[in-house]
Formats: sequence, C-alpha cells, structure tokens
Amino acid sequence: MPDEDELSLKGARLKTDVAIIGGGAIGSAVAYFLKLHDPAVAVTVIERDPGYRLASTPRASGGIRRLFSLPENIQLSQYSIAFFESFPETMAVDGGAADIGLHKGGYLFIVPPAHRATLRRNLETQRRLGCDVSWLEPSELKEQFPSMNVEDLGAAVHSPGDGWLDPHSVLTGFRNKATSMGAEFLADEVTGLTRGGNAVTGALLRSGQRIEASQFVNAAGAWASEICAMLGVEVPIRPLRRFEHFFECQDSIEPLPYIKDTRRLAFRPEGTGYSGGVPTLAEPRGYNFDVDGGYFEKAVWPELAHRFPQFERTRCRRTLPGLYDQNDFDGNVIIGPGAGPLANFHLLAGFSGHGLMHAPGCGRAMAELLLTGRYQTIDLRRFGWQRLAAGTPVREHGII
Ligand SMILES: Cc1cc2nc3c(=O)[nH]c(=O)nc-3n(C[C@H](O)[C@H](O)[C@H](O)COP(=O)(O)OP(=O)(O)OC[C@H]3O[C@@H](n4cnc5c(N)ncnc54)[C@H](O)[C@@H]3O)c2cc1C
Repeated sequence: MPDEDELSLKGARLKTDVAIIGGGAIGSAVAYFLKLHDPAVAVTVIERDPGYRLASTPRASGGIRRLFSLPENIQLSQYSIAFFESFPETMAVDGGAADIGLHKGGYLFIVPPAHRATLRRNLETQRRLGCDVSWLEPSELKEQFPSMNVEDLGAAVHSPGDGWLDPHSVLTGFRNKATSMGAEFLADEVTGLTRGGNAVTGALLRSGQRIEASQFVNAAGAWASEICAMLGVEVPIRPLRRFEHFFECQDSIEPLPYIKDTRRLAFRPEGTGYSGGVPTLAEPRGYNFDVDGGYFEKAVWPELAHRFPQFERTRCRRTLPGLYDQNDFDGNVIIGPGAGPLANFHLLAGFSGHGLMHAPGCGRAMAELLLTGRYQTIDLRRFGWQRLAAGTPVREHGII
C-alpha cells in the first residue's frame, strides 16, 4: 500500500466528497440517493468497465421478492419493490421514462414437508411486516398450478406482488438519473488506496490520476475483497460463478410465477421460454466465466423435469455465466464503515444473490449513513462489520 510521500504528484489530483468504487446497480444507486438527499455533495463513481461486460448486474436473473426470513431483508424488499413500481417516472430524464420491464408475476417458494414449520415462521414474520403473502397446501398448489408435481412438497408461500424485471435497465436508470443530477462517472480503474492514520485519503487510478475524497464506498461487487485488500483488510466476500440459462419447453404450461424450490431450482417465464438455473455453493470460488456446457443437462434439467413433466422435452438455448458477490460468512450484505479502524471507508457488498432487488433500499441506506451518520429508513446495523469481528453471523433461515 503506497503512502502519501511515495505518491507525490505523479498524476493529476481530483477532488470529490464521496468516491464510489464500482458503478453497477449498487454504486449507481448510492450515487443517485446521495444527489437526491444533498444536491450539493460532489459524487464520483469510478467504473473500470463502462460497458459492464463482466459486471454481475446485467447477468442477474432479475427476481424481486419479499420472501425472506430476516426483517432487514424483508424491509429492504418492501422499500425496493415499491421503488421499482415508480422507477420509470422517478428515474425519467428529460421526460423520457426509464422502463425496467417490471413484471409482477408473483413469487412462489415451495418446500418439502420437513420445512413446513420454518416456512410458516417466515410467513408470520413477512405478514407482521405488512407483506401480502399466502400459504398454499399441496392440494391448493395443484389447483393453482395443475402442471406442477406436488407429491414431494409440504407447502408453499405465494407473494403475488413480487416478480422480476430487467437488471440492465435498473443499472442504466440509476446511472443516467444520477448523472443528470450531477454525479460524475469516471471510466477508470482503482489500482490502489492510500491512507493517513485512520482514514483513507485517496484512490490511485489506472490512468495515473489520484482522487481524494472525504468518504469512500466499496461497491465493487464480486471484486469487493480486492478493493479491501488494497488496504490490507480481509473480507469474506468471494466471487461465486452461477449460470443463468434460457430454455424453452415444447409442451405448454400454465402461466407461472418466479418459482424457487428448496432443491435450489429457481426460474421464471421469459418471452417464449424460461430463464433460471440451479446455483450451488459447492462451486469453487474464483473469477471464472467459463461455461460448463453440461451443467444444464446435469443439474438443471432433472430438477425441472421432476417439478414439471413438460420439461422432459426442453431445450437450453443459451447459458450466461455471472458472479455472485458471495459473503461466505453468513450470506448477507456487509454495509457500513469499520474495516479495521477506517471510519471513512464503507463497504456495500456481499449480497450473495440479492443485490439487484435490494439496490434501491441499500443505495438509500448508504446515502443516509454517509450524509447523516445513521440509518433513517431501515435499521441495517445488524448488517455491519461488527458481526464479523464478533463471530456472530446473521443468516437467513429456510431461504436460499
Ligand atoms: C446469474 C445471476 C443471477 C442473479 N439473480 C439475481 C436476482 O434474481 N435478483 C437479485 O436481486 N440479484 C441477483 N443476482 C445478484 C446481483 O446480480 C448482484 O447482487 C448485484 O448485481 C450486485 O451489484 P453490484 O453493483 O454490487 O455489482 P456489479 O454489477 O458487479 O458492479 C460492480 C462493478 O465494480 C466494478 N469494479 C470492480 N473492481 C473495480 C476497480 N478496481 N475499479 C473500478 N471499478 C471496479 C466492476 O467493473 C463492476 O461493474 C444474480 C447474480 C447472478 C450472477
């Protein structure tokens, strides 16, 4: 890690109030909410890949759901889904609406008999927080979705107001709006960070420039631990490869919601077919974008055909690899300051598959923290760094 003296004046010095590292859905959402709450604050987002060729956001499945067990995640979904509903108007620039292809087709969580009690507890938490969710016995499930094999199922929870949207449009919407409000997006790469005492003082960029800021946000997604490593800080966020498949079915099935099975199958309708996959935590961690041509047949097709006999005759048209920013400590986001003693270095990563749907809620939470020093809308203190130091994971229960 270079110190101040070593740097001298090698390249141009830029100054900003908040420097955000990573301009995916998360970094762009933070930029938008900062400018919304304080138009005077100078915001610079540093994004090395403005075409987002490898970023996770455009590779996401687009699912949005309230079906979590932790109150924080449920509240983040409630806030974010309401935000997505008015996204086209809220993010409009020069009168042009920011369409995100929101499809409120519902979300269905199906579980085996052994998971009924956990599912019931989660439903009660969701209802207590105001979610409109319904319990379905296997017979009711069969009535609603006649093609589904329910023989090995114990129950389901349906959230009719949930659904899916187009991830890339969410990113572009936040980015365009933030830009129109004065946030600056720099096409550059952070290659190092400097510190003075207990503060981060600057970011070194591939172009040779150096940017100084009073606050830094690490929104680098699956690359967040590399940014932390520039400060000698270790964080248990690792890149986890996941495939999103587009597949078609020869035989027709009734309209389906986004379906999530505790056997890890997750899929939804998309155009003339379906989009989804079977993520596995057994996948070795790493920046691997290779496509395993046999994965669909090996892992996804049997699960699909088990649940809907129509998928016996399915064809995978396309497989897209992408990375989860997997928090191997407890599967939830790490938000806020506190990496070592560094009070002005904030992490916002580790979403482990929920980042897109929580971008509005977390973007706002981070802006509140940066501008006022505390959460105003949703109390996310349990998702802070302190849980790592204390060794107390905050995990979802019965939710994959
Ligand atoms: C297959 C798949 C399906 C998914 N499905 C869903 C879903 O249904 N619902 C959901 O909510 N989430 C889903 N996710 C997760 C979701 O995509 C992520 O949680 C979310 O996109 C994270 O956004 P981000 O902005 O943090 O990361 P990214 O979009 O990856 O953005 C991070 C950015 O940081 C930049 N960067 C990294 N290092 C540097 C550096 N040194 N200097 C400058 N820039 C840097 C990168 O170029 C990148 O653009 C899915 C993910 C995958 C892979």
